[in-house]
Amino acid sequence: MHHYTIAELMKSLRNKEFSSVELTQHYLERIKQLDSQFNSYITVSSEQALLSAQQADQALAKGNASDLCGIPIAHKDLFCTQGTLTSCGSKMLSNFVPPYNATIVENLANAGAVSLGKTNMDEFAMGSSNESSFYGASKNPWNIDCVPGGSSGGSAAAVAAQLAVATTGSDTGGSIRQPASFCGLTGLKPTYGRVSRWGMVAYASSLDQAGPIARTAEDAAIMLNAMASFDDKDSTSVDIEKSDYKASLNDSIKGLRIGVPEEYFQDGLDNDVATLVNAALAEYEKMGATLHPISLPHTHLAIPAYYVIAPAEASANLSRFDGVRYGHRCDDPKDLMDLYKRSREEGFGDEVKRRILVGAYALSAGYYDAYYRKAQQVRRLIKQDFVDAFTQVDVIAGPVVPNPAFGIGEKSTNPVSMYLEDIYTLPTNLAGLCGISLPCGLSSDNKPVGLQLTGNYFAEAKLLNVAHQFQQHTDHHKKTAPISNASNKLNSNQ
Ligand code: GLN
Repeated sequence: MHHYTIAELMKSLRNKEFSSVELTQHYLERIKQLDSQFNSYITVSSEQALLSAQQADQALAKGNASDLCGIPIAHKDLFCTQGTLTSCGSKMLSNFVPPYNATIVENLANAGAVSLGKTNMDEFAMGSSNESSFYGASKNPWNIDCVPGGSSGGSAAAVAAQLAVATTGSDTGGSIRQPASFCGLTGLKPTYGRVSRWGMVAYASSLDQAGPIARTAEDAAIMLNAMASFDDKDSTSVDIEKSDYKASLNDSIKGLRIGVPEEYFQDGLDNDVATLVNAALAEYEKMGATLHPISLPHTHLAIPAYYVIAPAEASANLSRFDGVRYGHRCDDPKDLMDLYKRSREEGFGDEVKRRILVGAYALSAGYYDAYYRKAQQVRRLIKQDFVDAFTQVDVIAGPVVPNPAFGIGEKSTNPVSMYLEDIYTLPTNLAGLCGISLPCGLSSDNKPVGLQLTGNYFAEAKLLNVAHQFQQHTDHHKKTAPISNASNKLNSNQ
């Protein structure tokens, strides 16, 4: 059962090959047997999942169930889930049980999806490797010595290890697309404002956006159909009509103009990644698309601009964690200042502290103009590069990450080398555009490589269509991680 995509499971559930309860039990059993290898879950909500599955079976029996009814998914641990720990990968929130659901959690539950639990992540979504999690690193199911990417590393590892059919993630600077690329999955970062941020623990509010991680573009479309909504509880939610993201998956892409930015194919790009991305572009040409060299001249400024803006916003957002209102509180504080200081000192990990320091510095009087305002000006230039490019092309294609998954521990002691991983994903967030990562092959050492497509504002339907068409012509997305004997035993029983 765990080999099936959402689209396949929809049919099986309706044909009564198995029930949602059986499917959910199967996934819970796999998590129990296998997740000690991957550490992809922080919390497994078995009872709640089985209860939702029972309700889903009743809805399926009535015959009018929605697409996701009875499908086992999991949520990144930064989406508030009523009555279930929402730790954000941090000691600070390791005791936080929200009294309400995030809008997307509510939307997916209303669509009948069964939540298996909460997935591991970099602390407060800061990172590209999942190594900054208070709950320990998650491992890449393709190679457990490697990171699954971050910050939605657990969400990607869970889908790649077939411990959930699809998951939710958040992408502030690449955290859906990069782990999807490292784990051989399809991950969509919607346009800023398309999906509600209400109930999603804030990292950098002007960049954060939730989206799905799935096996295929079709599954991502089914997830987005349920996730996307206008939400008056999120003041940046955009009230424009939602497409049916499934409806246009089969549109022809003949004549599609694909922009290929020269800046995405320069020094620092791994040879295997370059070869596989170029092969994917050649495949698109065969399918009737045309390739157009373009320039996004301010790409090299994305890392410095992002690593000022994101920490600045984070330093403000994280000031609410003071030991008074939420989360961790130190023992026996001497006075109020001691309470603040020690609660934050004990509750936050190193990367989070580093960003609070950088952000507070960049926002402080005397440095605001030199750093924060300058970074915002650069952000505007990056956005303009895309606005200009989209007058000539329909989508922009390139690599997601300069290299396939790196080893655990390889970059964790050098923050700058970790930040450099984000070069191709950050510009999409700075501009507020949508982007998708889809598998385009395996490197010479058998690690997945992703192709990134960036779309214009609210062009999710187009991106999913272009990705789906690729998946109709190739089978990279069908390759699955080689999982150890324990899972094979389980497979043979199914
Ligand atoms: N790797 C980037 C960072 O560390 C992006 C993280 C994200 O998208 N949440 O900030």
